[in-house]
This record gives sequence, C-alpha cells and structure tokens, in this order.
Amino acid sequence: MARLTSLRIGGLADVVVRPESREELAAVLALVEARPLPHYVVGGGFNTIVRDGGIRGLVVHLGALRAVRFTGDGSVEAEAGATHATVTRLCAEHGRAGLEFAVGIPGTVGGWIVMNAGIVEREMKDVVESIEVLLPEGRNPLQLSRDELRFRYRALDLPRGAVVVSARFRTSPDDPAEVQERMRAHLEHRRRTQPVDRLTCGSVFKNPEGDHAGRLIEAAGLKGARVGDAEISTVHANFIVNRGRAAASDVLRLIERAHSEVLRRFGVDLEPEVHVLGEEP
Ligand SMILES: Cc1cc2nc3c(=O)[nH]c(=O)nc-3n(C[C@H](O)[C@H](O)[C@H](O)COP(=O)(O)OP(=O)(O)OC[C@H]3O[C@@H](n4cnc5c(N)ncnc54)[C@H](O)[C@@H]3O)c2cc1C
Repeated sequence: MARLTSLRIGGLADVVVRPESREELAAVLALVEARPLPHYVVGGGFNTIVRDGGIRGLVVHLGALRAVRFTGDGSVEAEAGATHATVTRLCAEHGRAGLEFAVGIPGTVGGWIVMNAGIVEREMKDVVESIEVLLPEGRNPLQLSRDELRFRYRALDLPRGAVVVSARFRTSPDDPAEVQERMRAHLEHRRRTQPVDRLTCGSVFKNPEGDHAGRLIEAAGLKGARVGDAEISTVHANFIVNRGRAAASDVLRLIERAHSEVLRRFGVDLEPEVHVLGEEP
C-alpha cells in the first residue's frame, strides 16, 4: 500500500482491483457484497495511513475512472478517480472559476467529496451540485443532489458501502489568466505554510472548534518531535513527515503522543482527520 498512499507507508493488500469502467466497478461491489469480503476504496491516498501489516481484503482503486467534461450550463463533471491536478488544470485552461481553492488539496475527486475537502474559506460542500454513487446492491449509479448531501467538517454521510463515482461542480466563466493567477496565489500560500514537498498524509487531526490542531501541537512543544523516521513537521505541526524509512507504527506512535500531550496540557481531545486502515503486523 506504500505505492498507493502519499506517506509511502503500509504493508501489502491481499488484492488491489482497478475497475476500468462503471460496469466493472458495479461487478466488483456486487461480488464483495455477495461473499461478503472486506473492502476499502482508496483515491489518491493523501489522507490515508495503512498499518504495516497491510490490508486483509480487497482495495478498490478508481484511477481508471478519471474522465472530466465541461457541460453547456457551466458545470464541471469529473469522475471519482480524476486527480486534483487534472481537474484544476482543466478549469484554468477552460477559464472556469470556482475550484481555485482546491488547487493544492492533493487527491482525487472521490476523496475530495468524501472528506468534504477544503480550506477555511471554502469547502467541497460550497461548490458541489450533485454526485453519483454506486451502492453495493445497485448496478446503476444513484444521483444525489446537493440538498440530499449531508456534508460535515471533513466528512460526508453516505449510505453504507457507497462508492462515489463522479461529482458535478458549479463553476462560472472567467478569464483563464485570472483563474490561473488565483490558483498560483493559493499554491504560493501553501508552499509557505505546509511541507508540500515532503512525504506527508495531510492534516493528522481535525481543527477543534475555535482553534487549530497545529497551534496546539506546536504549543505542546512537539514541532520536530520524532519517532524513528516519522517527524512532526517543523513547517506545520499538524503534518507528519516520513523522512524516508518511517513505518506506520512510528507514525501512529507519534500521533498518539501528540494526542496525549495536547490532552494533558490543554484538555483538548483532538479528533483524527486522517483515515487509518489495515492490520498490525
Ligand atoms: C500536503 C497536503 C496538503 C493537504 N491539504 C489539505 C487541505 O488544505 N484541505 C483538506 O481538506 N485536505 C488536505 N489534505 C488532505 C487530502 O488532500 C484530502 O483529504 C483529499 O480530499 C484526499 O483525497 P484522496 O483521493 O487522496 O483520498 P484518500 O486518502 O484516498 O481517501 C480518503 C477517504 O475517502 C475515501 N474515498 C476516496 N475515494 C472514494 C470514493 N470514490 N468513494 C468512496 N470513498 C472514497 C477513502 O476510503 C478514505 O476513507 C492535504 C494532504 C496533503 C498531503
């Protein structure tokens, strides 16, 4: 799983399936439902940690479902496996404003939606018009409009086993150069404030009400703290960096340390944002 996650950590999965079409995805979901078999969807793996023992069961990777198209009414429709880089680059090229905030939120459209990814000013819930999901028992995708979607902070409530197949985003026409310029400014801000050129899994903890997890971890004196090759980023304390040979167990021990130190010193019980999958070795 190290090859499918941005921390480059994690043991073997029993099986990785890459459906080439919606029909193949429906067939895979029908199979895992009928057996039943444990299964997990991985997008870009930018907010996922896989334990060192790997994954018993099936990993569904949607990299082949990655079509992006611009509709006549100003929306962008993207399949779940389309990457953040492709979607935002095409928006800039076609002069479509609305998704500039997401330019540096790495991952896939499926991960963006399930995580309600965003920044302080804007999240996916503000730009999504509808999504399509496949349910384990259904052969055809179900369309859910924005009114039917229950987005929360870095989460979306979906029916059990639902896999996001595509999303439709509302955008508006704009000068391509201006869209590009706003994206450049977002990326520039990130380069100053996050360890973007390192192996990381994004924010480890959700920000507690009225505060920032990074501020609390830094105030607990943990910036730069290490377990093995896992390090609390010296740039932003809510990021853990793999300095090269970190194991998932190192990262998880560091997360536990940050959690318990912040709880002990400030009484704040930080909630994880990153998703942890798999088995102990
Ligand atoms: C340097 C860096 C900066 C980041 N900055 C931000 C930021 O500013 N804001 C922010 O919100 N996040 C940020 N993140 C976290 C990450 O980019 C987002 O959470 C992103 O949405 C993850 O997408 P992914 O495809 O990689 O998801 P994954 O990590 O692959 O998956 C995340 C969860 O979504 C589920 N999932 C993925 N695809 C589907 C699907 N098609 N159907 C059903 N379930 C699915 C997975 O099972 C998993 O539970 C950052 C990460 C990094 C490394």
